[in-house]
Amino acid sequence: MVQRLLLLFLLLSASALHAKFRVAIGGFKHESNSFNPAKTTLADYTIQEAGKMTEDPLDLWGRSSSDVAGFIAGGKEQGFELLPALHADATPKGPLTADTYNTITARLIAKFKSLGKIDGILLALHGAMVVEGHPHGDEETMRRMRKAFGDQLPIIVVHDYHANISPETVKLATVLITYKQVPHLDTKERGIQAARIMNGILSGKVKVTKAVVKPPMIYNIIFHNTYQNPFLPIAQATIELEKNPKVLAASANGGYQYGDVPWTGPAVVVATNNDQALADREAKRIADMIWNVRDQLKLNIPSPAQAVKSAMAAPKFPIALMDTGDNIGGGSAGDSTFILDELIKQKATGWVFVIADPAAVKAAVKAGIGGTFDMAVGGKTDNMHGKPVRIRGRVKSMHDGNYIETEVRHGGARYHELGLAVVIEAEGSTRDLPNILLLTTERSSPNSLNQLISCGIYPHRMKILVAKGTIAPRAAYEPVAAQIVYVDSPGATAVNPARFQYKLARPGLFGIK
Ligand SMILES: [Zn+2]
Repeated sequence: MVQRLLLLFLLLSASALHAKFRVAIGGFKHESNSFNPAKTTLADYTIQEAGKMTEDPLDLWGRSSSDVAGFIAGGKEQGFELLPALHADATPKGPLTADTYNTITARLIAKFKSLGKIDGILLALHGAMVVEGHPHGDEETMRRMRKAFGDQLPIIVVHDYHANISPETVKLATVLITYKQVPHLDTKERGIQAARIMNGILSGKVKVTKAVVKPPMIYNIIFHNTYQNPFLPIAQATIELEKNPKVLAASANGGYQYGDVPWTGPAVVVATNNDQALADREAKRIADMIWNVRDQLKLNIPSPAQAVKSAMAAPKFPIALMDTGDNIGGGSAGDSTFILDELIKQKATGWVFVIADPAAVKAAVKAGIGGTFDMAVGGKTDNMHGKPVRIRGRVKSMHDGNYIETEVRHGGARYHELGLAVVIEAEGSTRDLPNILLLTTERSSPNSLNQLISCGIYPHRMKILVAKGTIAPRAAYEPVAAQIVYVDSPGATAVNPARFQYKLARPGLFGIK
């Protein structure tokens, strides 16, 4: 009997020693563009729910480099019993319909509830979700989480760098961490950090104190590179600050300019261990660093008219003009005419312009090779990309529009399709310096120069190349272009915040006015 009791005692104490914290993992993400009228619906979402997947979510999610993979790696490191719940993600688009949002949050919370006793939750939320009726979707998610799980359960949230953080979200999350880097190369690291902080909280070693400061500004995505000035020293300041053993997490994120929400723009969030004054002081210090670089964040890029004028006068060619307002990869129309209009008006020579216009393709095919072309092209999809521009010229060649790219380019695709494509030699062409309009049937992001070469156009011999994109075409155009110029063109993907009508953003933000 005594032996049996002893055995029981040993078993109990052994299990007590190995009692693991039960930590649940989930995510619900969206980067919502308030200015995009196309709503995000359930059909846009990929929802992965533990128990309904063919593969163990810890294996599947753990293989990526995401924040969730970091939750898993960090959770294993801390010896947690990990409980995967649900992860939902969709491509950036307009705000979520209320229905979509309610459905997914209900499923997420029900799944967490079904996991039994939980000691804590690691939650990946993008931070720039907009929902019909809830401008700060992630704040609403946290409100519903608190309603379901109470105020005491530790919930650590990881946000994207492009989050528009409301102070209320910081309050509702036990700790809120954002990615520090653009391009986002530290996502997994942030998840690991979240798991480490969770262990500190659960083992009673940490009492969270925190502060958030929002500099009154928004700034353009063109400046969102934390490996360059002016944001390199700011990202470094947060990394330095985390070397202080009293600092749990220091985040300085950039905001998302296409979110017209009250708390749009950057934020600094600092979480400390039982030192409110330190959190307050450091959050303010780093927010001041952001505010103080604002003069370097003024968008100083030329209008279409200025860009064409300086390109014509450039000492070295070709000049590649990036039509940022009509960024096909960002979902715009691909038939913007603002720059084309200037090329014609200013009588530029030696230019190449690609435009998606199936009706113009048909007309050119009808005219035949060598035939006369006289038609207004582009500006036909919506009212954001300029008016059709009359082009007079001659049909030079026709192509099936299929081409191949073997080098690594943005997105990594090999086979490309323009649909039926026609080369028009436009008015003002000379034998040595033609003006080339490439009419395509499909919209196709200019990620490869073979788009031109496959249609008999020699980009390196031209003076002005126009590419409908912002970042994606760079890898293709950099090798041939003497200079790459971002053009402040209007359109669905305009990079200039002043081109949009903000209704909900706090009034007077630097960058909007
Ligand atoms: Zn992002």
